[in-house]
Amino acid sequence: MTAGEAKQTGQSAAPARVGSAERPLRVAIVGSGPAGFFVALALRKQQAVPTEIDIFDRLPTPYGLVRGGVAPDHQSIKGVTKVFERGATTAEGFRFFGNVELGVDVELQTLGEHYDQIVLATGNEASRRLGVPGEGIARCTPAAVFVGWYNGHPDYVEAQFDFSVRRVAIVGHGNVAIDVARILAKEPTELAATDIATHALDQLAGNTLEEIVLLGRRGPVQAAFTPAELKELGELSSAVPLVDPEDLALDEHSAAQLEQAPKQVQRNLELLREFSQREAQPGQRRLRLRFCVSPKEIVAAADGGVGGLRLGRNRLEPTPEGQLSAVDSGVAELLPVDMVLSAIGFRGQPLPGVPFDPEQGVIRNVEGRICDADERLWTNHYVVGWAQSGPRGLIGAHKRASAQVAELMLEDLAAGRVPAREMPARDALPQLLAERGIELVTFDDWRRLDAVERDRGQRRGAPRDKLTDVDEMLAVARDGAPSSSATEMS
Ligand code: NAP
Repeated sequence: MTAGEAKQTGQSAAPARVGSAERPLRVAIVGSGPAGFFVALALRKQQAVPTEIDIFDRLPTPYGLVRGGVAPDHQSIKGVTKVFERGATTAEGFRFFGNVELGVDVELQTLGEHYDQIVLATGNEASRRLGVPGEGIARCTPAAVFVGWYNGHPDYVEAQFDFSVRRVAIVGHGNVAIDVARILAKEPTELAATDIATHALDQLAGNTLEEIVLLGRRGPVQAAFTPAELKELGELSSAVPLVDPEDLALDEHSAAQLEQAPKQVQRNLELLREFSQREAQPGQRRLRLRFCVSPKEIVAAADGGVGGLRLGRNRLEPTPEGQLSAVDSGVAELLPVDMVLSAIGFRGQPLPGVPFDPEQGVIRNVEGRICDADERLWTNHYVVGWAQSGPRGLIGAHKRASAQVAELMLEDLAAGRVPAREMPARDALPQLLAERGIELVTFDDWRRLDAVERDRGQRRGAPRDKLTDVDEMLAVARDGAPSSSATEMS
């Protein structure tokens, strides 16, 4: 007897099989960045199990890192949002709930009452610390704050930067360091055509930087950046990348490592060799890449802000794990700089009630299934993206990883690990959140906001001009264009 027949006959029926047309598998995904959306896409793509998927985000806007992290001059990477929109949101059974924060607006336990499976895709939002004296004085900032600021992320709009200085040091040799260097090196006219936040565009217009130094604690073979990103530094109109040829002389361990290294490491080295032949032309910003140096102390200038960086030179030594690690050689130098941006990676932060591995900075998991400290699995709870793996991997790599977790979810369903039970009505959760005074942003609301941002962008010759204030975002999501911009547009 089906549930429908039972209703008619007044008899009680066993709850319908989870994952059937009558009772689709209900999934909550917390975090609407690429990793979360890729889970939704993978679940949508398979035909065997009908699903109802809700994606939550603490911001009123979807797409997480694609909106708040990917550099504004990398619009082609941002094109992935079209795939998310088409693949996940045009079908029945998908909902977006923006402006809902896990642990603040809704508890994990409450989600458990409304969903069969829960996926956490909350990313890594905290910056790693350098841990040297002087860190945090004026003009010394984690690069992630600068990235959030130029991308108009509401958490970072209040950050303060002073670009009326001559030299900046960026610590780290990863792709974030490269993004940051490129944004600092570009001309305002080039940036205006991107979706950089208007406040950042205005302030960067006064950029007087002459030299940007990227500091790697290890050598060119160990650098974390990828060739496509490095190559872009050589294509800038107003800046030139410079490398001291001596920095490219490899020690025996690095030379051996290079022989076994993937093609992209060899390609990095080719590019760096080419950069080492270049010279700065008058008026060009110098973009200097330095290797085997570590910050020891941020030295204050007379105004209390950054005035220099005490560096220690490193040599590379093999570790028992077969890596090459940076070891202080005892040689020190003082690099005169006026600003320091540390781009040395991210860390996850614990979520209320969710097992967290403080050493790795990730949600505890076994291949994406959340577990406690004793590796006992939390049935039907999963984690994807940087919250699972740490801050590693390009967006494409997370597509595969999220699809694998989606497979585990279906495997758990097939193995009978998702209990059949009476579920609250599908609207019960949004109703509960509304009763709690939370202003939910649906996908249609986001589309309204999106249209307004695109309109604003068009007036600047940019793909988008983002709103950065949450209250304003909520008002526009609810009502469409604010009256002031309607006047401007007419
Ligand atoms: P990352 O790739 O892990 O690079 C971090 C850099 O910081 C490494 O050079 C690392 O050196 C260095 N570092 C770490 N701790 C340090 C310390 N205490 N002192 C000095 N240096 C230190 O991290 P990321 O740049 O934040 O990027 C995160 C992920 O996002 C990466 O997968 C990246 O490719 C991706 N991403 C991609 C793009 C793009 O596709 N355009 C843009 C941005 C980010 P060691 O190697 O010695 O640890």
